[in-house]
Amino acid sequence: MDLFEYQAKELFAKHGVPGTAGSVTETAAEALAIAQKIGSAVMVKAQVKTGGRGKAGGVKFAATPEDALSHAEDILGLDIKGHIVKKLLIAEASDIAEEYYISFLLDRANRDYLAMCSVEGGMEIEEVAATKPDRLARISIDPVAGVDVAKAREIAEAGHLPAEVLDAAAITIAKLWEVFVEEDALLVEVNPLVRTPADQILALDGKVTLDGNADFRHPDHAEFADKDATDPLELKAKENDLNYVKLDGEVGVIGNGAGLVMSTLDVVAYAGELHGGVKPANFLDIGGGASADVMAAGLDVILGDEQVKSVFVNVFGGITACDAVANGIVGALDKLGSAASKPLVVRLDGNKVDEGRKILADANHPLVTLAETMDEGADKAAELASK
Ligand code: GDP
Ligand code: MN
Repeated sequence: MDLFEYQAKELFAKHGVPGTAGSVTETAAEALAIAQKIGSAVMVKAQVKTGGRGKAGGVKFAATPEDALSHAEDILGLDIKGHIVKKLLIAEASDIAEEYYISFLLDRANRDYLAMCSVEGGMEIEEVAATKPDRLARISIDPVAGVDVAKAREIAEAGHLPAEVLDAAAITIAKLWEVFVEEDALLVEVNPLVRTPADQILALDGKVTLDGNADFRHPDHAEFADKDATDPLELKAKENDLNYVKLDGEVGVIGNGAGLVMSTLDVVAYAGELHGGVKPANFLDIGGGASADVMAAGLDVILGDEQVKSVFVNVFGGITACDAVANGIVGALDKLGSAASKPLVVRLDGNKVDEGRKILADANHPLVTLAETMDEGADKAAELASK
């Protein structure tokens, strides 16, 4: 999960990374009030999850609260690379002597953690890498040893930060590593990390990506979720611990195991070409335990998608055998009652397939069609969706 700048800065503050005071708002009137409260010049900053806001006119200096009001009016609603500005950070403006760049990230290609540091901050780091590669230090981090103040000083030195600020920068860089580790981040980036005329070091921007796989360790990170930007069906699926991704086709897909579901998407897309170009409507992996509850929750999410015209349930019985899955489907249809209104094609195979098929045949639900093979099921579901 990518965070907004103001959220990244909340984590920075929690770990003692020095920055400037500020508050977030959704209205220009409140921007004025925040600027008045800060009582000095402020920066009015678009909160969108993309870089280059400054260049796009989304970061403006306001000498007075009235300036902050008019900048806020201009920036709210602005389209920055397809992101509409709904929130503003109003932050105390700092004097800047120099702008640096620092980041920590997971370097998947090298199976390593990487620190990047440069005295050439402010501009986009891709540009520094392309035009002045020798000014951008890349230092791999031993995950066990981590980054203490001495290592942080090495990083700052390698990035050619000037001698007068190495000590202050090292302290801040070590704290940013603490953010990276303790918050389970995949990326912590500060651009610019600034040197003030008084040789203080401040993080004036912040970009943090959190590792969703570590969410269970961080109940407090739940508040960072951007509910506005999340598809409501994906939200509902998440609340039910389902692995669901909405796509834009017409055939709902449920399967067990990510690999099976992905190949089901391919087979449905292929079959759909023969039926007017219908496509899969979603990815939904119900995992190993296909109980009635899980099946009902999955069907409920898929049937909530207005675009869905038919559903293909493709399950290979393993530890959870086909009879349990069949009972799950029958139970789910019972549970959903009239909410289940679209045709279902079910293909079962694997452990206890005969028992599973018998349960569905005996239930004889008017919406359910049984298919022998995956291809046949995909074809039937595509045909039903095209009607
Ligand atoms: P980005 O363009 O999305 O990376 O947004 P930044 O937060 O990095 O802001 C863009 C630029 O605005 C920075 O590189 C700075 O030059 C400038 N800026 C940001 N905060 C301040 C501040 O407090 N004072 C001054 N003078 N300039 C700032
Ligand atoms: Mn920046």
